[in-house]
Amino acid sequence: MSDCLFCKIIAGEIPSAKVYESENVYAFRDINPQAPTHILVVPKKHVASVAELNDSNSRLAAECLVAAAEIARKEGLENGYRIVSNCGPDAGQTVAHLHFHILGGKRLQDQMV
Ligand code: AMP
Ligand code: ZN
Repeated sequence: MSDCLFCKIIAGEIPSAKVYESENVYAFRDINPQAPTHILVVPKKHVASVAELNDSNSRLAAECLVAAAEIARKEGLENGYRIVSNCGPDAGQTVAHLHFHILGGKRLQDQMV
């Protein structure tokens, strides 16, 4: 997707603070952190959101979550963390490339799940 912000970040066309990379997954620090640790984990292949997951691409989501667990360990989030994936306008998704937020490093708000 040539006009996708996260595809451009994955391609190195827009700079990012990379924290993890594998064959299918890329992770980088959120530019507007909502917690002391705020990292975005994305599949390198463009998938718009959780709503576009299906039997043929679900492996990408699984790899993102396994990567998230590894990143959380490396970031020292042994006291806990939250993983969020906003899906669609009502959830406030602003970038239409599947991403999982890792939020941690403080006691997170109890509102909303
Ligand atoms: P969402 O609102 O769930 O779609 O999340 C999109 C996230 O991308 C927001 O938390 C933004 O702060 C973050 N973001 C937008 N542009 C960049 C960028 N260039 N580098 C890192 N994070 C970004
Ligand atoms: Zn994309």
